Amino acid sequence: MKYQEILHRCFRCGYCKLPSSYKDINCPSYLKYRFETYSPGGRMWLLKAWLDEEIKTSPHFAEILYSCAACGNCVEHCVFPKFKADLLNAFVAGREELVDQGAIPGIVSDYFKAIQLYGNPYKLPEEKRDAWAEGIGVPCYTNEEFLLYIGCPGSFDERGQKMARAVASLLAKFEVSFGILGKEEHCDGNEVKILGESGLFEVLARNNIEQFRKKGVKKVVTLSPHAYHAMRNEYPKYGAEFEVFHYTHLLARFMDKGDLLHGNSRIKVTFHDPCYLGRHNADYYTPRTILNAVPGIELVEMDRNKGDALCCGGGGGNFFTDILGSGTESSSRVRIREAIEVGADILAVACPKCAKMFEDAIKAEDQEDKIKVRDIAEIILDERL
Ligand code: SF4
Ligand code: SF4
Repeated sequence: MKYQEILHRCFRCGYCKLPSSYKDINCPSYLKYRFETYSPGGRMWLLKAWLDEEIKTSPHFAEILYSCAACGNCVEHCVFPKFKADLLNAFVAGREELVDQGAIPGIVSDYFKAIQLYGNPYKLPEEKRDAWAEGIGVPCYTNEEFLLYIGCPGSFDERGQKMARAVASLLAKFEVSFGILGKEEHCDGNEVKILGESGLFEVLARNNIEQFRKKGVKKVVTLSPHAYHAMRNEYPKYGAEFEVFHYTHLLARFMDKGDLLHGNSRIKVTFHDPCYLGRHNADYYTPRTILNAVPGIELVEMDRNKGDALCCGGGGGNFFTDILGSGTESSSRVRIREAIEVGADILAVACPKCAKMFEDAIKAEDQEDKIKVRDIAEIILDERL
């Protein structure tokens, strides 16, 4: 297995899961299960025991490996600089081994089948990929400056569609030259990769790269930080040469256009850093720059922010597989409590998965009157309350 040589180096100090205090659990799977094997260090030793054949492949072992949300919090906080960068890579390599052995959880196998058969995890016809854009006049890509890439949650999930409409409306309002692929768009594959199906990911990546090349795409702007990450960091390995932006990068360029920004309501906003924009791509400042520029907003920080932000729990494929599940100690619910604790009226997000995870968590916490989830584009459009 790749990265096998780092496994025995972990000395289980626990800083990766408890970076500042014993209350401050930052690993979503350890937070949920509270067993060492679900923690980053425990998972390292579990993998080692498995590779040393001290334990056998089993559904329970697979479930533990697939409960990691790929949030990167352990990578951020591990005290061992020589291997910390490869912690998550080792967990993904373990999943790749399970894929090769055909020993993955049924729900993960269903996910891969859905991508292969339908092209998306929602098992919906690909012709419906442009349903989110109905009635708002979004142009199809011909040779505009930017290709706006929406991805599966923005195309098929009701919450993601709302966010996609807000981003497209704003880009149009700011007169950005952009177009979409609509029905011709395909899955970016980020979750496929992180779930361990590297072969299928390569196929998806190469097909997208070839499609973009044929269309002459030079700049891609993504709705989701997950697609941003895959296209920015993985696609170049397969020959991609286009520039990649997250939609906040474009919006930040227009924050001096005060007359285009609404700001009639005074509101307290806290920002949740999406793992794939923050920890995985080290951008903590673009979303805050935007929020600070919108009139009427008071930006307050949760105790855990930027590199310390607790994941919404939807990463690592969990948004679709739900292996981590819900419950009072699910990270999305803990995060909602953190946002309420700082008095925020709005929890601002920059990812369709975070938006959905947190809206569900607010309902589960019965706090719908207390706090709302709004994407940054929706906030700029003044869809705050
Ligand atoms: S901080 Fe690093 S060395 Fe310590 S338990 Fe976590 S993975 Fe192991
Ligand atoms: S990536 Fe996140 S969920 Fe996975 S082991 Fe590390 S801290 Fe836990």
